[in-house]
Amino acid sequence: MLSVEEARERILSHITTLSAEDIPLTGALGRILARDAVAGEPLPSFANTAMDGYAVRSVDTLGASPTSPVRLRLAGEVPAGRVYAGRVGAGEAVRILTGAAIPDGADAVLEQERTEVADGIVSLLAEAPAGTNIRPVGDDVRVGDLLAPQGTELGPAEIALLAALGVHPVPVTRRPRVAILSTGDELAPLGEHPGPGQIRESNAPYLAAAVARAGAEPVLLGIARDRTEEIRAKLQQAASADLVLSSGGVSVGDYDLVKQILSEQGSIDFWRVRMRPGKPLAFGLLGATPLLGLPGNPVSAAVTFELFGRPAIRKMLGCRQIERPTVEVVYEGEDIERAERRQFVRTRLTSRGGTLVSGTTGAQGSHIISSLRGATALLIVMEGEGVIRTGDHAQALLLNDAMPWGNE
Ligand code: AMP
Ligand code: MG
Repeated sequence: MLSVEEARERILSHITTLSAEDIPLTGALGRILARDAVAGEPLPSFANTAMDGYAVRSVDTLGASPTSPVRLRLAGEVPAGRVYAGRVGAGEAVRILTGAAIPDGADAVLEQERTEVADGIVSLLAEAPAGTNIRPVGDDVRVGDLLAPQGTELGPAEIALLAALGVHPVPVTRRPRVAILSTGDELAPLGEHPGPGQIRESNAPYLAAAVARAGAEPVLLGIARDRTEEIRAKLQQAASADLVLSSGGVSVGDYDLVKQILSEQGSIDFWRVRMRPGKPLAFGLLGATPLLGLPGNPVSAAVTFELFGRPAIRKMLGCRQIERPTVEVVYEGEDIERAERRQFVRTRLTSRGGTLVSGTTGAQGSHIISSLRGATALLIVMEGEGVIRTGDHAQALLLNDAMPWGNE
């Protein structure tokens, strides 16, 4: 049996990063930057005022105070979006509004709250040393600064920064097309009433959602009965996919079906991985397309997708970090016996007094779909002996990128 790490390494060794495409920045949320984004200009690109007030020469303000105001001639006005045509001369002040370029000659802005104006004369009630209220060129970003490295997932903050520097369109990796196939005579598709002995299938809906959340484009192939011709026909539709995910048909009895097709059209490795849930796992190449054969049990399919499928997609996307983070948690719940296989327990993390407490989401059978609901992490019960009990420390693999715990 392979370890989780060995299985993951073997899968990832067949995965390469996809090509880049240029897209509008406004559509780039969640996309992965394909190249370093570097500033080609400074930000701000011109010195401008942080306040509404008066642009002045700092030397002219020396000694100004409420009791002995300095009086300057109001020479003009410059709102944001305009450039003052003249120069601020000795004894002059120019009215200036937030964001407007500092006029030539001026080296300070006194905010309007510290001034009084009457009859074309501005009285300064305070000194304004050089640089006061001025946002200098490059204060935020300098030319050549790295705005975001290749492999960054673009969020609102990155999008704002790239917009401010004119990085548009933006080069991102192409979204992987991930074909999803469910196998099993017992499966009824969404919208159809299950016949006697049939079940409503849930793996494809789960995987489509999880694939989309991982940043890829799901392509639904539907359900193949447990017959070689049907599986073969469905898989033919997956030829243009970047990755194929199948579920079911990898347990001992079914294995020959998938194996037969893949050995005709590529290659297959069938593994038993030392983990629970999710022991049986197939990996192969369909032509040149990697295929990950997940177990049919819904919880096993979900957990193996998280451990092997999602990192594969994130590697295709060229993400800086292809694995989700693990955090140290304190376990709370019934004793869990360690075993030869590593266990991944669906758990909900709660922040309590600075500690992340991990409580299970209920019964953990691989058919208990409701154990996935509300899970924010997978508690990792390492291989070994003895039990893990309330108060023990353990690692947990986060299932969400955003704040994965609630407050108490
Ligand atoms: P298998 O891996 O094909 O032996 O399936 C194992 C278990 O998972 C069986 O109880 C199947 O009915 C169930 N199963 C397989 N595929 C799906 C699916 N797409 N949706 C829900 N349950 C499934
Ligand atoms: Mg089956």
